Amino acid sequence: MNPLDQHIIIIGGGAVGLSTAYHLGKLGCPNVLLLEQNELTSGTSWHAAGIVGPLRASQNLTDLAKYALELVETIESETGQATGYKRTGGLWLTQSADRITELRRIAAMGEMNGLHGEFMSAGELGERFPMINHHDLAGAMYLPQDGQINPVDLCMALAKGARANGVEIREHTGVTGIVVENGIAKSVVTDSGEKIECDIVVNCGGLWARSIGELAGVNVPLHAVEHMYVVTEPIPELPQPWPVCRDMEGALYIKEDAGKLVLGVFEPNAKLWDHNSVDRKASYLVFEEDWDHVEPMLKAGINRIPRFETIGVSHFMTGPESFTPDTRQLMGRSAEVENFFVAAGMNSLGIMSSPGVGKAMADWVVQGRSPMDLWEVDIMRFQPKDNDLGFVRERIIEAVSNQFDMHWPLKQYKTGRNRTRSVWHERMAELGAVFGATAGWERPLWFARGDEPHAIEYGYGDQCWWPVAERESKMLERSGALFELSPFSKIFVQGPDAVAALQWICTNNVDVPVGRVVYTLMLNEKAGIECELTVIRTAQDQYLLTTASLTRIRDIDWVVRNARQFDIEVIDRTDEFSVLGVMGPNANLLLSELCDTSLELADFPFATSRVVTVADTELRASRLSFVGESGWELMIANDHALSVLDKILAKCKHHEIGMAGLMTMECCRLEKGYLHWGHEIGPEENPYQAHLGFAVRKNKPGGFLGLEALLELDLPQHKSLVLFEAGNSRPLLLHDEPIYLDGKWIGRTTSGGVGFRTGKFLCFGYIDTDCVPGACEYSREFEVKIAGELHSLVALPSAPYDPKGLRMRT
Ligand SMILES: Cc1cc2nc3c(=O)[nH]c(=O)nc-3n(C[C@H](O)[C@H](O)[C@H](O)COP(=O)(O)OP(=O)(O)OC[C@H]3O[C@@H](n4cnc5c(N)ncnc54)[C@H](O)[C@@H]3O)c2cc1C
Repeated sequence: MNPLDQHIIIIGGGAVGLSTAYHLGKLGCPNVLLLEQNELTSGTSWHAAGIVGPLRASQNLTDLAKYALELVETIESETGQATGYKRTGGLWLTQSADRITELRRIAAMGEMNGLHGEFMSAGELGERFPMINHHDLAGAMYLPQDGQINPVDLCMALAKGARANGVEIREHTGVTGIVVENGIAKSVVTDSGEKIECDIVVNCGGLWARSIGELAGVNVPLHAVEHMYVVTEPIPELPQPWPVCRDMEGALYIKEDAGKLVLGVFEPNAKLWDHNSVDRKASYLVFEEDWDHVEPMLKAGINRIPRFETIGVSHFMTGPESFTPDTRQLMGRSAEVENFFVAAGMNSLGIMSSPGVGKAMADWVVQGRSPMDLWEVDIMRFQPKDNDLGFVRERIIEAVSNQFDMHWPLKQYKTGRNRTRSVWHERMAELGAVFGATAGWERPLWFARGDEPHAIEYGYGDQCWWPVAERESKMLERSGALFELSPFSKIFVQGPDAVAALQWICTNNVDVPVGRVVYTLMLNEKAGIECELTVIRTAQDQYLLTTASLTRIRDIDWVVRNARQFDIEVIDRTDEFSVLGVMGPNANLLLSELCDTSLELADFPFATSRVVTVADTELRASRLSFVGESGWELMIANDHALSVLDKILAKCKHHEIGMAGLMTMECCRLEKGYLHWGHEIGPEENPYQAHLGFAVRKNKPGGFLGLEALLELDLPQHKSLVLFEAGNSRPLLLHDEPIYLDGKWIGRTTSGGVGFRTGKFLCFGYIDTDCVPGACEYSREFEVKIAGELHSLVALPSAPYDPKGLRMRT
């Protein structure tokens, strides 16, 4: 069927559902039906404050948000419906020098999207905006592109535009059931008992999206809170236009509304609200005024705008709004039901996000794939355990305050911790592990000794853990280190068609002898990289796929969806095994004392894997290296994992091997020039841009998914990945920092850090292909802008640590 002709049902007539409907209509989809249980906008959209702020935490999210500015320009003339949009400019006010650094970093990122933040001192602010108390401020950023809109009018314009393009909108039609057969939503049932058949369902149910998901067996981890603002009496002397003010430490925003000021809060102790506590069809919900609750923020508001003290409050508004565990939207196709999409959990940014979210969702539904890299907001980043109500309720309180909190490098949530621990957790803690959470797993970030830091101390300068990572990296290089790798996803693919299936979805040749390990990619039909993984052939008809812990659900989904035509089983066994990395020059010596098999290179070559006995336990040993040293990954059934670890630990001292954490691993992988999916590579990059052609077998019999597009890509590439070293400074390289050549912006960083074995500050970045140095041009002067300062960069022709990979193969 032509994807445009699919029968698409959108559930929810708020800003997000209406924008999705509008954009599907614009794409020319003739069979779109939007169902709203009450009236349009009667959920949360009617009472939003209407701030439209395009500058977000990353480039892709900024792109998504920035589209709102484009849409409001066109939709008014297209529909004749005003939206009330006003470009007022916006101020980000802060008392903290660290926050200024953070804002400067965000501003540099925004520049790449055409948003130009201007910085001013507290004194300058006071002169330009005398109503604002500037005396306790460290400074401010002004963004001319900030603005505000009338949410209901925006929704009405979207509805009008959608209808004009053939979308049917039915109000007072609630969805009470979703019929799912063999993992596919076949129809929805309405509260009048009508059954409507469909090809696609899009859940835009706002805070009700969790319950709508339950109707189909889809996890939608979000929860509502009571979200509030107060509106003052008119202030005659209020300057026009009044900029949207964000008082970062006060956790509040102040915007204008018809000559009055609106003060809204993102408090540290948000009040959860259970949508099941009222009738399903309750609409235009408002809650009781809770003055005690907002008092600290009101005080902060009076401090910021002293005029508040003498002006009355005309209205106290508390309505429900849903937040997600990581304060990022939930978008995309669900893993549980193939044709069920979600666009919900807007974290109080749903009005400003709705144009971009609706456009992206429409493209996603029609193309079957996200139109840009939206991994940050993809609902598949969450696992079923993340929908646990206890976890969600605890985390959501933190998620609300997270909107205005500092976004420190390596920032960890305080709530919802210790949900998944490896069997080694206690032992690692005894050994000094400082834990951080990834995909719900507690992972040792580093192992503190003596007076080394036993907790993260956040900052935008030298990181507190650098000296520890330096010690661990040097120990690894000199003798060796043990790494906890249990969170890696372990996916078995087995059955009569296992070879054929993986040959089809992998770029590399995986039809290798049993025991071989293959590094490969999986591509989409446009040759974008959907997955980067290690494949071990464990039997004639069985493979073990190892991927990152964060992409577990997405990777399984990719394999299942793209290998449907094959007779295979896909089994997720991540939680059954622990994995220990034993790496470094002495790793072989240590393991040989415990292993029944020769570990000599000639007997057990690099990139092979076998079941052996170590410490009286059968386990899978794979000779691999992610840190550039000779080493092993031991995959051990959980029941035996602790005893194996203890026996290995007992030998460590003799071989001068100690524990090392995730941060050391990260430093070492940069030095080796290894890439991370989600940073250096993703659906928008092809293997050639990332120099991963070595993992592609174009002549593989039968071809593979993405090959056709790849063949066309033997053309020049518009961007190319380069590894850089900082010239003469110690910058904190993270990601999304702009890169310049001869003063011209040519690209952005994807990740960065320090390599302690080489003493280099390193980052990866994509730059315009024309600017990639030729063989003799590595002396060209590149620069990176970090927090407003330019640092010189030198492009490296190869990875700085053991570029030939000799150490891994000894
Ligand atoms: C006090 C406050 C201030 C805010 N300020 C801002 C701001 O300044 N800027 C900003 O961008 N955002 C702001 N927001 C957030 C914004 O209002 C929301 O993020 C946005 O409205 C979410 O839109 P939505 O379409 O996802 O949800 P909703 O508008 O809630 O729409 C979901 C719809 O689904 C319908 N529905 C639910 N279940 C069913 C069912 N079973 N069948 C059929 N229909 C169903 C509901 O009736 C509802 O109409 C604010 C929110 C609050 C509470």
